[in-house]
Amino acid sequence: MNQWPRVQLALIWPAAIVSIGCLIAQQGGQAEFAGIQPAAASMVAPSSPATNIRVAVVQRKPTVDLAILGGFQITGADGATSLRSGDKLSRVAVRATRAGIVVGDEQLAQRRVRVEPRRDATISLNGQRLRGTLEIVQQADNTLTVVNHVGLEDYLRGVLAKEAPHYWPMESLKAIAIAARTYVLYQRLEKASVDYDVSGDVMSQVYGGRSGEKGRTTRAVRETAGLILTYHGKIFPSFYHSTCGGMTENGSAMGPYDIEPLQGRLVCTFCSASPFYRWTRILSRADVAWALKQAGRGSIWPVTGMEVIARTPAGRVTKVRIDGTRQITVSGAEFRQLFGFDQLRSTAFTITPRADGFVLDGRGWGHGVGLCQWGAAELAQRSLSASEILAYYYPTAQLVDLDELHGQFTTIEGGH
Ligand SMILES: [Zn+2]
Repeated sequence: MNQWPRVQLALIWPAAIVSIGCLIAQQGGQAEFAGIQPAAASMVAPSSPATNIRVAVVQRKPTVDLAILGGFQITGADGATSLRSGDKLSRVAVRATRAGIVVGDEQLAQRRVRVEPRRDATISLNGQRLRGTLEIVQQADNTLTVVNHVGLEDYLRGVLAKEAPHYWPMESLKAIAIAARTYVLYQRLEKASVDYDVSGDVMSQVYGGRSGEKGRTTRAVRETAGLILTYHGKIFPSFYHSTCGGMTENGSAMGPYDIEPLQGRLVCTFCSASPFYRWTRILSRADVAWALKQAGRGSIWPVTGMEVIARTPAGRVTKVRIDGTRQITVSGAEFRQLFGFDQLRSTAFTITPRADGFVLDGRGWGHGVGLCQWGAAELAQRSLSASEILAYYYPTAQLVDLDELHGQFTTIEGGH
């Protein structure tokens, strides 16, 4: 299925990486993690998780538009009770009432239905074409959640086109495809007991369905089909982000993920072509006071000072103190939220006071954990292969084919 044998990535990276002048930050980085033992398995999936991914494409909306271009069947939650079928479903509104789900003007006395297109038929939901099948679930507040059940590889085709520019070098697209596949499988295994595995927005991986697919990103998915990353044979959350801004962050920034492949503190200046490699924001004293008030933290006007008081070893801000009529301390993530995630692109910044406010000099876009996408693009430009790129950003991880795991999918501990 693919040309890559199972390989210990750590064995292949040094020559390639050192030759392009890149070094792992040594300040305790390697030694600190050398003693980590393999994490215990937190669970084993009862059946292959590779078959389907459940993507919440609509959450808590009063109505959705549904059309099916071709034959279809709507069944109850059991998948057996046929409620409606036809050769085509013209665009109709689907909504929830006290009595159940209404499709067009037809009341289905069900709180959960499945929509299954026949082979070659296509679902269109709110104008977006989707592969796979749909599960429409009525929520307690009479809104609808729609979950797209889609094959793993089809899901990735819809994700990669949204997560990476299709014109990037092929080896970087393949590296991101493998990271995205690993990440969603981890989510699938960790969320076996809830209604869906991932949402279709930036909170998980951005998913465009069939409508969003592009030729080159689809090729990257196809050429890496079934390949994932493991750590001591276990699937881990292979986070990735747009631009690290100079150094990657430890996995503990995202939860209990302080493991070797996510150790962070990898020097990466390869992302310097990113528009977000460096950024500057100026916040007036009034901006700061207003943001705190809007967030329900009360008034501290006049604001007299603002200072970073704690950072991670990789340099990201974990605590900011704001002085005014009283002192308020916020976490790095809260601080970003105060001013907007699209305004402050990361928590890697410094604060310099000036007469009318504060200058924030920032680096990168995103959490900085795992693979840096802009860095991966540059490394591919410098002729590194997808496996070499992954070896750099996820040290000691192994590249394996899902088939080799023989259905024994285990994850690292954490994520609960
Ligand atoms: Zn980078």
